[in-house]
Amino acid sequence: MDFCMEAERKVPVSGEYDIIVCGAGPAGVCAAIAAARNGAKTCLIELKGCLGGTWTAGLLAWIIDHGNKNGIIAELIGELCAISGREYDRDKSMPFDVEDMKYLLESKCIDAGVDIRLHTAITAVVKKDDSTLDCVITESKSGREAWRAQVFIDATGDGDLGAKAGCRFAVGNPDTGLTQPMSLLCLMTGIKLEDVKDVTNGYCADWREGKLALKSEMNRGGVDPSYGFPTIFHLVDDVFLMMANHQYKVSALSADDVTRATLTARKEIRSQIQALRSLGGRWKNLRLIATGEQIGVREGRRIKGLYELTLEDMIAGAEFDDAVCKCRFGIDVHATDPTKDKGIESSGKYKVKPYDIPLRSLISADVGNLMMAGRCISGDFFAHSSYRVTGDAAAMGEAAGHVAALAAREHISPAAVKFSK
Ligand SMILES: Cc1cc2nc3c(=O)[nH]c(=O)nc-3n(C[C@H](O)[C@H](O)[C@H](O)COP(=O)(O)OP(=O)(O)OC[C@H]3O[C@@H](n4cnc5c(N)ncnc54)[C@H](O)[C@@H]3O)c2cc1C
Repeated sequence: MDFCMEAERKVPVSGEYDIIVCGAGPAGVCAAIAAARNGAKTCLIELKGCLGGTWTAGLLAWIIDHGNKNGIIAELIGELCAISGREYDRDKSMPFDVEDMKYLLESKCIDAGVDIRLHTAITAVVKKDDSTLDCVITESKSGREAWRAQVFIDATGDGDLGAKAGCRFAVGNPDTGLTQPMSLLCLMTGIKLEDVKDVTNGYCADWREGKLALKSEMNRGGVDPSYGFPTIFHLVDDVFLMMANHQYKVSALSADDVTRATLTARKEIRSQIQALRSLGGRWKNLRLIATGEQIGVREGRRIKGLYELTLEDMIAGAEFDDAVCKCRFGIDVHATDPTKDKGIESSGKYKVKPYDIPLRSLISADVGNLMMAGRCISGDFFAHSSYRVTGDAAAMGEAAGHVAALAAREHISPAAVKFSK
């Protein structure tokens, strides 16, 4: 490989904060709101043009594992329900309108006093010493900038900040190195709920049968979906969400892979919509509204923390004194190898119980003033496939923001904050 050398340069420090949260997905937004509400001067830096991450740029308008949680996630759901006139049902996954979510997250951050910077990528760090971060470096239309804080929270999903800071991390299944497939999601309309209940998640009598029925409809229209259990979710009125593709053997850490996966998936979605439309009848007016700006990435780096959550913890239903929330969602490993299975490869393999997520899994083992929240916390391949869902990501974010604010106020490390469940 050929290389060139960049010239050394002075980088302006654009802001000094108590807390900087990197990445504004479900975890990052809740972390920033919690930190600011606890009195910390807080900045939230996000690569995309909206807050919400997979919820919004990824179009994943379906919140799982929120029912046993209070705090910011409950507040968000309560307000989404008020906007849409829907009942708050803690026993069911929560659908929402993506634009409502974008606006709500922006309003909540602004009300809490969070400084928001969109369209800005975390690209490097400056350290005070081996185990202390001084600044994150960003790139954007404003050029290269530095941002200083006492405590940083990596909520980039892929663990970009932890990696730049030199933290140890793991990726993929330890036996094969393979990661779960990505899926590009889309919104569609032109169908009526009463006509498609047999193939719609939560309305069909059996979730598996509903997915297989949708697959056979696609087959009848001449396409075979790359995800063996294609799924339609009803969001609001005549708007539906579809997850019907799997992009196998692609790495979230390779821009080439993510680009190829996105282009392939977008093409497949068009062919699936056309195939269903071609059937006429209930599908005849089916129309694609939007595909995600961001392909859905199930897994990136898992940054090493003071505690690594494991499959054994899930099987035991582990409880911890420093629990930040209880995760009730099971193991959900989507097929890593399409030659073996195109569905859920973990289906029925392990019996797990609800388990606690400890604060120690949200604190870096290598950098004292770095916390993680969301899918990049410290856990093994199987635990990650469970706690990555957004009800838990949001709760982790809130806890991280709260603890980071206390640490900054006391000028101590997050690990030294006295915290109990
Ligand atoms: C296809 C798919 C289907 C899913 N289905 C469900 C479901 O039905 N229900 C459910 O609850 N969960 C579901 N999940 C899981 C869930 O969406 C994610 O695990 C969750 O969004 C994790 O939240 P997060 O905040 O950790 O990460 P993300 O939502 O990934 O947010 C990370 C944010 O960081 C930003 N970012 C990344 N790198 C940088 C950088 N270098 N600089 C600045 N910003 C950066 C990103 O733009 C993004 O906004 C699904 C996931 C996928 C991929």
